[in-house]
Amino acid sequence: MHDSQPAGITVLGATGSIGVNTLDVVSRYPGRFNVIALTGNTDVEALAGQCERFLPRYAVMADPDAAERLAALLRNTAPDVQVLGGRDALVEVAGLPAVDFVMAAIVGAAGLLPCLEAARRGKRVLLANKEALVMSGALFMQAVRDNDAVLLPIDSEHNAILQCMPDNYTAGHAPRGVRKIMLTASGGPFRTLPVSKLAGVTPAQACAHPNWEMGRKISVDSATMMNKGLEVIEAGWLFDLPLEKIKVLIHPQSILHSMVEYDDGSVIAQLGNPDMRIPITHALAWPERIDSGAAQLDLAAVGSLQFEDPDRAHFPCLELACHAWRQGGTAPAILNAANEVAVQAFLDKQIAFTSIPRLIEHAMERCTVHDGTSLQVILEDDAAARRQARDYIDSDRMQASS
Ligand code: NDP
Repeated sequence: MHDSQPAGITVLGATGSIGVNTLDVVSRYPGRFNVIALTGNTDVEALAGQCERFLPRYAVMADPDAAERLAALLRNTAPDVQVLGGRDALVEVAGLPAVDFVMAAIVGAAGLLPCLEAARRGKRVLLANKEALVMSGALFMQAVRDNDAVLLPIDSEHNAILQCMPDNYTAGHAPRGVRKIMLTASGGPFRTLPVSKLAGVTPAQACAHPNWEMGRKISVDSATMMNKGLEVIEAGWLFDLPLEKIKVLIHPQSILHSMVEYDDGSVIAQLGNPDMRIPITHALAWPERIDSGAAQLDLAAVGSLQFEDPDRAHFPCLELACHAWRQGGTAPAILNAANEVAVQAFLDKQIAFTSIPRLIEHAMERCTVHDGTSLQVILEDDAAARRQARDYIDSDRMQASS
């Protein structure tokens, strides 16, 4: 595409960790990409800076008040950027005809509708927003197939798996000759902390990931290993594999990003430094290979790579996610919604770290699972799970104060 004309790109969640890394790669290739739209939620200063630098046609703040502030900031510095506000505008800029690539890097369920729109419009969807796929897997994969969208995962593990698949493999189809895939997990900051100490950990400790710099929600998800649970579901949809063929392996160095084991016993792995620009560049340039700016891997300096099975008692969220995947239907959407509420409550210091899995289990027990092929039903079950989760928080706090 870049040989003839630049690829039009919308970056959803441009102000976040993945968004910033994406724009770093884009900036290395002037003329290859044409930034059509950048989006944020409330971080007006960050989006203003990006707009002044990349001069997109559209800048969207999901929060309408923030959009007004952004418009005022850009009036003199980037007057040609059209500022839009609200959730509908996110959907609009994901589906514009001028857009070829959509980086889906909004965090959480808020990214679902724009992500779906990108698939429905047949875009190249660079999927970081795993929650969208977890919530709506059947619907989303159908939209990809029906509209010839190209789905490329940005999660380093899933991107690694894709790289270990045969050359002609495309996401959404059961790969031939694959015995299993192995998703690696660092184990997060509390891998070696005794279970008895988990109740007292703080949001700052949970967000201090040993290998990756990420947004706060995914950092907490990594600490509980819900992130790996969501990734198991994501892998199930992306690679059309049952749970028995998806293994989770702890690998504290985050150098080997995942592996595919074939029927003949061959195991193919993808390695690289823990730098998200590597999977982002892979997906932006695919099927070409171009420089990501990441440091070259020095295995002699790394020395040794360790692997171990996860301790499921230490990480109950992993099992809850596997349970939701086995249940099917809207169970993963319910799990995801309860988790989002739980993580925010933990970050706001309303509940303890160890209450996160309890809250999710509470919501899962009380919500009815429905067929997961209707968007309306998915959104209703998401809302029901959030209500259950908030009820739990209220009763938890009442118990704590009595
Ligand atoms: P961040 O928290 O750093 O960024 C989130 C982005 O989403 C920001 O641009 C934020 O805007 C925007 N946003 C937040 N809430 C809303 C909302 N309600 N409506 C619209 N936009 C919103 O997250 P990350 O970049 O770390 O993660 C983004 C996604 O990528 C997540 O799904 C995560 O699981 C996935 N991912 C991240 C990895 C990483 O290394 N960070 C690795 C693999 C996957 P604002 O800044 O204005 O708040």
